[in-house]
Amino acid sequence: MRAAVLYSVNEPFQVEEVELARPGQGEVRVQLKASGVCHSDLSIQRGVLPMPPPRIIGHEGAGVVKEVGSGVTSVAPGDHVILSWMYPCGHCSECGRGRPAHCAQALGVVFGGGALDGGTRFKVRGQDMPHWVGSFAEETVVPEVACIKIRDDAPLDKACLVGCGVMTGVGAVWNTAKVQPGETVAVFGAGGVGLNAIQAAAIAGAEKIVAVDLLASKLELAREFGATHTVDASKSDPEGEIRGLTNGRGVDWAFEVIGAPKVIATAFSCLARGGNVVVVGVPPFGSEVTLPGFAFPMEEKGVIGSYYGTPRFHYDMPRIIDMYMAGRLKLDQLVTKTFPLADINQALDALDKGAVARGVIVY
Ligand code: ZN
Repeated sequence: MRAAVLYSVNEPFQVEEVELARPGQGEVRVQLKASGVCHSDLSIQRGVLPMPPPRIIGHEGAGVVKEVGSGVTSVAPGDHVILSWMYPCGHCSECGRGRPAHCAQALGVVFGGGALDGGTRFKVRGQDMPHWVGSFAEETVVPEVACIKIRDDAPLDKACLVGCGVMTGVGAVWNTAKVQPGETVAVFGAGGVGLNAIQAAAIAGAEKIVAVDLLASKLELAREFGATHTVDASKSDPEGEIRGLTNGRGVDWAFEVIGAPKVIATAFSCLARGGNVVVVGVPPFGSEVTLPGFAFPMEEKGVIGSYYGTPRFHYDMPRIIDMYMAGRLKLDQLVTKTFPLADINQALDALDKGAVARGVIVY
């Protein structure tokens, strides 16, 4: 079988033959059918995220269970699954309070060898090779908890997107902010995650949804996903535009989906009294954001973070798929282009240039 291996930062992926271990206790071997290409993959390639190569990455995958290790009870061979890129333990206090993204195990394993025992499961040219989910491989081995079973009739080349971008964008609106009908929303950044925040706000019944981006093509797509207004930030000032659209009031929620400290500050400036910025994009490690302190108590404005859309994986991912299958949530329109694994470097390049909402590797 083949995988795309990242050997070092700022180098292209090498697609080559790899060996994969059989699933151990509590593990599942999954045959990938598709994997989205996410900005975090690009960040790892560039060394922006602290997940040093060599490594097999790709973390927005869906596929079919091929083999299960001993003790696995929630999935069986033939099951269709979306892969979660976090492996929460399920029984610590954070998991118990419904916040599995804060589980210590979930946080730790992401940066390890790809298995809960800290070991590796792939070998390349005879050498142990760490992985993270490993959806840029024809097959992978992940812990049982990473396999979220979904209905068999959902197309896996669309369902894969729920493994990261859709969960992150939709979850920020439904789970982190819990946007209410009639509230007003702005979304800064109308890419693969931002479009999902926009459609989730529309489904939640937000009254105005303002998409802010620098690219006209993305703003056009934002309208298709439910934005009621768009602001081209390369031509006009978002704060003035948003205040103009809301009788001077500002928005109740401003989702920042870029990870730029300056944009977080701009989003804050667009808030109504009592409004909140939800930071979804990941700012560079060590960066700082400057905000007017007076506004926190005197205007009850706030800033909160949203990690992976505050997910409850086994609840959220199947319900997102059900909404899609019922025609209530868009996934098809997110996929701008599909690529074979051999063209992984072109897929990352297209994402980097803003040429795709999502490129998807199809196996
Ligand atoms: Zn991702």
